[in-house]
Amino acid sequence: MTEQIDIAAIRKEFTILNQSIRGKRLCYLDNAATTQKPQFVIQKINNCLTNEYAAVARGVHYLSQNISAEYEAVRGQVAKFINAKNPREIVFTSGTTAGLNLLAYSLSELLLKRDGAILITAMEHHANLIPWQMAARRYGRELRVLPISANGELDLTNFEKILDGVKIFACTHASNLLGTINNIKELNHIAKSKGAVTVFDGAQAIAHNCVDVREIDCDFYVFSGHKIYAPTGVGVLYGRGELLEQMPPFLTGGAMISTVRFENTEFAEYPQKFEAGTPPVIEVIGLGAALEWIEKRGGIEKFAAYENALRAEFEAELNKLDGIKIHGNSANKTALTSWTMKNIHPHDVGTILDDCGIAVRVGHHCAEPLTKLLQVPATIRASFAIYNNSEDIKQLIEGIKTVQRFFDY
Ligand SMILES: *Cc1c(COP(=O)(O)O)cnc(C)c1O
Repeated sequence: MTEQIDIAAIRKEFTILNQSIRGKRLCYLDNAATTQKPQFVIQKINNCLTNEYAAVARGVHYLSQNISAEYEAVRGQVAKFINAKNPREIVFTSGTTAGLNLLAYSLSELLLKRDGAILITAMEHHANLIPWQMAARRYGRELRVLPISANGELDLTNFEKILDGVKIFACTHASNLLGTINNIKELNHIAKSKGAVTVFDGAQAIAHNCVDVREIDCDFYVFSGHKIYAPTGVGVLYGRGELLEQMPPFLTGGAMISTVRFENTEFAEYPQKFEAGTPPVIEVIGLGAALEWIEKRGGIEKFAAYENALRAEFEAELNKLDGIKIHGNSANKTALTSWTMKNIHPHDVGTILDDCGIAVRVGHHCAEPLTKLLQVPATIRASFAIYNNSEDIKQLIEGIKTVQRFFDY
């Protein structure tokens, strides 16, 4: 499975992995929370700060013009990465949370003033739940929740009926707790045929799926840079041009205007209309570097195949142990596994694994209502990236056995 990508060479690019934690080999399996950064990205940022830094779109001087061109080039690069028709349909945000809040504000203002319900699903991250809850409350609209089935997939039995009167359908591409990858092309088609505007949360899917927004034909697709080898503080909001054109701005201030009087302001065209304030130029350039690095190392499709094989390898080993319950058993899963262990609290598991040098996530994964549905206090989650290998899996399985011995299984 490593024929196509030289994983050992890739690991060397992630200097942080080359250290001991509590005297043990570091086994980093918290990639669904955030990924580590390759030297290629770190050096690009370092070079930018050392030699190129200035404010974007604010000066006639050389440094400002130069960095503004780089910033805009990344917009084009992102558009290509997700196959958007026009780079103008790429809005830079500070992350998925910021993008979804922007939509819950601006799109709701455009669509929900008179009527209309919002539909989300039972597997949403809080970032794709609370902003819509607030919007529903603001306009006095109904917030509906599409249920899930026992294996952790969306239950589409009554989907069309539930869509009656829905103006906004907001749904995750992949669940950060269950791992389920939703068939968003099909969901999009049905939702749009019923007249809803579609919003997809790609925070989890972007690093493991080739995303083609034109093929999906969605209205909005949102993700963060930091889960795809780029720095924190930058995110992407893809939006269909016609809708971005009509939507009111979210944040207001500098850089998003064309003319300002004390009485009134004319806004800039999109995407600038949605990029108020000094933009996160270092972070955007870091995102560009991350996308370039992924391409250089084989591309998302190859990354996904490798990471998914790791997940399958891990789940096969995990299933050999007693008292394990894996949450999320869809045939179409992204590179993460959530599980619980009989009579052992996930936080105890996390603590003992940490002692073994292993970084996993324990908790409700910002999806508390879903955790309640699963009837567990929390889960343990291991999530894979391109620098993980079979040694990580061995170390994790050994760690889990240590937990079991400790609790006298
Ligand atoms: C991480 C995550 C978010 C939030 O992303 P931020 O970068 O924290 O804004 C939203 N949705 C899903 C599915 C996620 O995994």
